[in-house]
Amino acid sequence: MREEQPALLSVAVADLDQWFAVHDAAPYRRRQVLAWAARGAATFDEMRDVPRPLRAELEASFRLSSLKPVARTDADSGLTTKTLYELDGGHTVEAVVMRYSERSTLCISSQAGCPVGCPFCATGKFPFGRNLAVHEIEEQAIASARLLADEGRRLSHVVFMGMGEPFINYDAVIESVRRMSDPERLAISPRRIVLSTSGVIPRIEQLSSEKLPVTLAVSLHAARDELRDVLVPINRKYPLHDLIVAAQRYAKTSGRRVSYEWVMLAGVNDTERDAKELSALLKGKLAHVNLIPFNPVDGTPYSAPSRNAIRQFRQLLVDGGLNVTVRDTRGREADAACGQLHERVMRQRVTA
Ligand code: SAH
Ligand code: SF4
Repeated sequence: MREEQPALLSVAVADLDQWFAVHDAAPYRRRQVLAWAARGAATFDEMRDVPRPLRAELEASFRLSSLKPVARTDADSGLTTKTLYELDGGHTVEAVVMRYSERSTLCISSQAGCPVGCPFCATGKFPFGRNLAVHEIEEQAIASARLLADEGRRLSHVVFMGMGEPFINYDAVIESVRRMSDPERLAISPRRIVLSTSGVIPRIEQLSSEKLPVTLAVSLHAARDELRDVLVPINRKYPLHDLIVAAQRYAKTSGRRVSYEWVMLAGVNDTERDAKELSALLKGKLAHVNLIPFNPVDGTPYSAPSRNAIRQFRQLLVDGGLNVTVRDTRGREADAACGQLHERVMRQRVTA
C-alpha cells in the first residue's frame, strides 16, 4: 500500500459514489464496503460479499486505514494495551484499550498534542501538533475493536481522554461520535461515549443542541478560579462559575449527570479547603465526582497523594453530599495517562 492512496474513511461520500460509478459498481456497494471497513476488516479481501475484481480495484485505490502502529505496551497482566500510532504527516497519537469483566473501554485521542497546556499533563508538555480528522479518530476505534474481536470481546465504551482537547476539535469529534454509534458501523451507543473537556464553554453549549446523548466529563481539578487558572489554564478564558452553569445546562437538557474529573495532586488540591469548596460548588446538582490519582509525569512538580489522603478527601466529599468514585489506576505501567507513551517514544527518538 502506498501512502499517497487516500484512506477509505477519509473520502467524502460524493467522491466515493463517483468512484463506484466509474468502476461500474452498483451504488449500494459504497455502503457495503464502508460498513466492512468501519467494522474492522483488515483487508479488502475479507469483504466476502464484494465481487473479487472490485476488491482488487479498491485495494489499488485506497488504504483501509491511515494509522501506522509504531509502539505498543501491555500492562495490568494484559488487561491494558496502549498503542502509539503515526498519522499521515508524522505526528503520533495514542489509544489505550482497557478490558474489564463486563465491558471493554477505549481511551481515544482527538488531537496530536494539546494547546491547553495543563502543567500536570504529559500531552501538554509537547508543542501542539494538529487536530485529528474524523477518520483518524474513527480509525483508532476500528483498530481497537479489531484487537478486541480477535479475543472474542466487543468494544463497548469510548472515552475521549487520550491526547488532546476534544472541544477544540469539535466538529470532527462530534462526527466521529456519530460514525462510531452508527448501527452499520461500530454501533457503540452514544451513552457509552464520554467527551472529556477542560472547559470550552461555547462547545458545551453547542453540545446541548446536538441531541446526542453522550456523557459529558468536565476536568475540574480545582473549585476556585485562582487555583484553576494555574492547573487548567483555559480557566482564564472560561472561568469556573460560567463553566458549571454551562455543564449543568447540559445535564438538564440531556437528563444525564455530568462527571467532574479531579486529578489528585498532593498538597495542591487535596486539602480540606478544596473538599469544602468542591462540595459547595456541586451540592444538589446532577453531578458525579471522579477522583483520579495523579499519574506521575517527569518534569512536573506534582506527586500523588497517599491512599489514605485520597480516602479522606473522598469521605469529606461524601459527607458534603456528593456522589464520588475513585478511578482505578489502570494502565499505570503502560505509561498510563494521556500523552505518556508518546512522551517516552519521543524522548527515545530525541536521545537515539
Ligand atoms: N483534554 C481533555 C481530555 C483528555 S485528558 C481534558 O482535559 O478533559 C483526560 C483526563 O486525564 C483529564 O481529566 C486530565 O486532567 C487527566 N490527566 C491528565 N494528565 C494526568 C495525569 N498525569 N494523571 C492523572 N490524570 C491526568
Ligand atoms: Fe490538554 Fe486535557 Fe492534557 Fe489539559 S489535561 S493539557 S486539556 S489533554
